[in-house]
Formats: sequence, structure tokens, C-alpha cells
Amino acid sequence: MEQHSHTLHKERSFVIIKPDGVQRGLIGEIIHRIERTGLKMVALKMVRPTEDQCWTHYHKDDSWFKEKGERTVGDRIKANLPIEKEAIEYGKDIVRALVKFMTAGPVIIAVFEGNKAVGIVKKLVGSTEPLTSDVGTIRGDFTIDSYDISVADNRAVRNLIHCSDKPEEAEREIKIWFKDEDILSYRLINEAMLYDVNLDSISE
Ligand code: ATP
Ligand code: MG
Repeated sequence: MEQHSHTLHKERSFVIIKPDGVQRGLIGEIIHRIERTGLKMVALKMVRPTEDQCWTHYHKDDSWFKEKGERTVGDRIKANLPIEKEAIEYGKDIVRALVKFMTAGPVIIAVFEGNKAVGIVKKLVGSTEPLTSDVGTIRGDFTIDSYDISVADNRAVRNLIHCSDKPEEAEREIKIWFKDEDILSYRLINEAMLYDVNLDSISE
């Protein structure tokens, strides 16, 4: 029996090229890296984010604040900086600093669709701290930031791009940044090569 996998082709990832990506002239490079995988761009816009949008987008919970804050406490101890508050408060400081960063200038927002879109984009983006992001990833190849200097200066680590962590998160995030009608539904010629079962159309 033929297995239909159409819904799997519709997974979506939400991407933000952060203010540093825009200012560093990396818009084209970043989109190119994602586009050439075969994922389909279904929405794209340049916007100046509001503080509200960023707080809603980075809706972190207490366990996230605590975990991130604990790492900050560790980094402060290593850097001989005083510990002035609870770990959870340091965690909240990260999102405060992040919102300041994200609202500093225009960003590019985009939605990419295709098989395993979330995992594929995550792999291209790399891990959070550019110092330790793998070579070959966007964060590893195009920037040099690290937690020690971002923590010392109480600012967000500048890592060029955001991408969704899970398909459900992507759907939640897309609603914050795009209207339904901004998301286009169309077929790319490329998709035949990626997904068609028999490839009848390529032989003469
Ligand atoms: P993003 O959500 O932006 O795609 P991510 O999922 O890799 O990045 P998160 O843990 O969700 O990382 O953190 C969100 C953002 O907050 C990071 O991209 C970074 O800009 C900033 N950030 C996270 N941890 C720290 C930290 N310890 N010090 C400074 N900034 C941080
Ligand atoms: Mg994240």
C-alpha cells in the first residue's frame, strides 16, 4: 500500500535573523544556507520587534530562569564577580537583556516548511554560545561571542539567529509574528525531487 507522507512535508520552523545578523550583512548568507537544503520559505518580513512581542516570544518558565541563572552564577564565580542575587533573578536578567538586544534594530522574520524543518534548521544554526557552536554552523562560522564576556557586560550573547526548538513551539511563535494571510501555500518545483515517490516526470 502506498504511504502518504504529505503532512510530514508541512512541518514548519520559525526563524529570526537577530539585529546582529542584519547589521553584520548576513541576511543573504543565512537565508541561502537554509534555502539550499530544500526547505521552502513560506513567509518573510523585515520588522522592528516590540518589547511585548519579544517577551511573548521568549516566554521562559521558572525552571529555565533557574537553570540559566545557575550557569551565570558559576560564570560570575569564575570571573571573580560578586553574587548579588538569587540564581533565578540572574536568569530573568538574561531575558531582560535579550529583549533589549532584540529590540535594538530591525530583524528578519521567516517561516520555512518541509520534512523535519525544525531539526534541519537547528542543525544549521548550531548551539547557543558561538564559542562552542560547531564549525559549519551559522553561529560557529560567522561570529565570536561567548558567555563570559556577555555575562560580564550584562548583555545577551549575540548569536545571529533564532530558530524554533520544536514543531509545536514553531506554531506558537509564528502566531506572535505573522498574520495567517502572511503565510503562503504554494508548490516548489524542487519538491517533486525531494518527495515524489516515482519520479515519473524526469525520464524522457
Ligand atoms: P534562541 O532561542 O534565540 O534561538 P537558543 O534556543 O539557542 O537561542 P536559549 O537558551 O533559548 O538559546 O536562549 C535564548 C537567547 O538568550 C540566546 O540565543 C542568547 O541570545 C541569550 N542567552 C541565553 N543564555 C544566555 C547567557 N547565559 N548569557 C547571555 N545570553 C544568553
Ligand atoms: Mg531558544
